[in-house]
Amino acid sequence: MYKQFDILRVTEECGIRLKANVRPLSGEIRCHCPFCASTASRYTASINTRRGLFYCHKCGEGHNALTLYAKIVGTSNKQAHRELQAFAA
Ligand SMILES: [Zn+2]
Repeated sequence: MYKQFDILRVTEECGIRLKANVRPLSGEIRCHCPFCASTASRYTASINTRRGLFYCHKCGEGHNALTLYAKIVGTSNKQAHRELQAFAA
């Protein structure tokens, strides 16, 4: 079973721009979508820091911290897990 990683940490590692650095109570932060955002001015996606999820309202990509990282970096979930564990250590 994979352990849950910090979605905020993953967006940082992957250079995903967040709309605000403050963490709202809801845990919901708007951000850029690394999969479909061709124009840098639109925040079409959001992450939920409480649930550790990413979702894009435009292209429908939905991920947890692990699969988000794996997809952006272009690696397997297994390898992503290994790398994220190295960050966390
Ligand atoms: Zn998208």
